[in-house]
This record gives sequence, C-alpha cells and structure tokens, in this order.
Amino acid sequence: MIICRSIDAMRSQVRAWRREGLRIGFVPTMGFLHDGHLSLVDAAARRADRVVLSIFVNPTQFGPNEDFEAYPRDAARDEALCRARGVQALFYPERAAMYAADHSTWVVEEALTTGLCGRSRPGHFRGVTTVVTKLFNIVQPDVAVFGRKDAQQALVIERMVRDLDIPVEVVVAPICREADGLALSSRNVYLSPDERRRALCLSQGLRAAEARVAAGERRAAVLCADLAAAIQAAGGRVDYVECVSRRTLATLSTLDEPALLAVAAFFGRTRLIDNAYLG
Ligand code: AMP
Repeated sequence: MIICRSIDAMRSQVRAWRREGLRIGFVPTMGFLHDGHLSLVDAAARRADRVVLSIFVNPTQFGPNEDFEAYPRDAARDEALCRARGVQALFYPERAAMYAADHSTWVVEEALTTGLCGRSRPGHFRGVTTVVTKLFNIVQPDVAVFGRKDAQQALVIERMVRDLDIPVEVVVAPICREADGLALSSRNVYLSPDERRRALCLSQGLRAAEARVAAGERRAAVLCADLAAAIQAAGGRVDYVECVSRRTLATLSTLDEPALLAVAAFFGRTRLIDNAYLG
C-alpha cells in the first residue's frame, strides 16, 4: 500500500495507474476507520482495479462548537486496517495542503442541504461539497463510494456530481451496524456504556417504524412522533426526526412516495444520526 501525504504524490500515483489503463475507485473518509468504512472499500474494489482511501478530518465541515479538535484519530490503526483490506493507496493530506490560509472558493448545493443536518449544522454541507470536489479533482476516480448512513450527504454528492458534470460514478452502500443494531460511527467511541445502551433506541425505533409501515401505516407524523417518543423515553435529546422524500428530501405528510425516515439525536454530548428507507 502506498501512502500519499502530498497532493502531488497522489496525483502522480493516479497518473501512473491511468497510463496502465486501470480503473480507480475512491472512498473519502475522516478516518478512525470501522467496518462501515471498510465495507465501502469492498464496494469500491468490486468496481475498480485500484482503491484509494482518503483520511482527512475536514475542518470546514465542522461548526465552531462542534467536535473538530476532539474528533477521534488513530493513524497507525487506520493504516493497518487499510493494508489488511487491500487498499492500494492511502491519501493522507495535511490541512495546510488542502486549505491555503486565504482559501476563498466554495462549492454550495442549495436545495437538498436546507433541511435535516443542513438546518442543524449551518455550513456543514458547504464544507462537505467543497472538500469532496477537491478530493475528486485530486484523485480523479472513476467511481466513488459513500455510505447511506449519511443519506443526505450521499444525495447531495449525487446532485453535485450531476449538476457540475463531474466525471465520476457515485455508488451508495448500505448501512453497517453492530450486532445489536447500532449504526457504526467513528463518534460511537464518545459514548459511555450507558449512553451506548440508550442509543439503541435509534435503530430499534427505525425498525419499529418499518414494521408499522409494513402493517399499513402511511401517516408520517405518527411514525415521527413514535420515534421521537422512543428517543425521549431512552433519555436522548432529539435534534430532528423527519420523514422526507428519498428523491427531494422534501417533508412528507403521507408515505405516497419512497421515503426516508431520518433521525439525529444527542446521547450525552454525542450527536448520532441514523435512517431507514420506508415504502
Ligand atoms: P466519515 O469518516 O464519517 O466521514 O465517513 C466516511 C464514509 O463512510 C461516508 O461515506 C459515510 O457515509 C460512510 N459510513 C460511515 N459510517 C457508515 C456505516 N455505519 N455504514 C456504511 N457507511 C458508513
């Protein structure tokens, strides 16, 4: 596995592969890797000859009162996991290489980012779309894989790629969960054992909503109210619970089109997100 710490090193590796006619798959991450990230590596490997994984804790997608400084980091462990999973190149840029002190150009998606996490985390998606554009320009992958764990993010990236004619195929991979249902997240490490137990209300609440829909429920307000009540009963603090169109992320009152039940909630100081497809 090659480790590229500079943009130039990454670009020349990609150029060499391209000269050989190889297809390049890309998995952007913020590191502290878990099986969810590694499932994206497998998905990329199925669609490409070489897999590049980037690790960059992107400062511009964190709000001033968020966890940028505290975000978990473990370079040695991440490197070993990538090696073991068959990643061919690890792109590990420095902050100063990615953002000049006078960086002043941004990529902004203006429709899909107005609700859900976009409402709770102003500026977050501007940071995401900008850094993903930069990473796409550096790696120039044929295919890039994102997780449905961040369903809004995946949709925003698909829209951005379409709107800006970025020549990459975007693949969205399923959510990886622990055996008890908790969606894998680098932030799970912040949870105390008690908070982790309480946080199971998210996946359990989503499964309950799926069961209600299978039994015929179509009222979004009922599904959202039940999930919010389950979170409160477990001692979590709801950020949002919303039933939205899977296509436009517009709020739905009735499940008359494919829907996304999306949730964000705090357990202690840790904010977790999860979601389910309904209908
Ligand atoms: P992050 O390092 O949190 O920025 O995530 C990097 C990529 O991994 C994103 O495309 C996420 O959606 C994806 N990801 C994170 N957690 C999971 C999970 N539990 N299952 C599948 N993909 C995930």
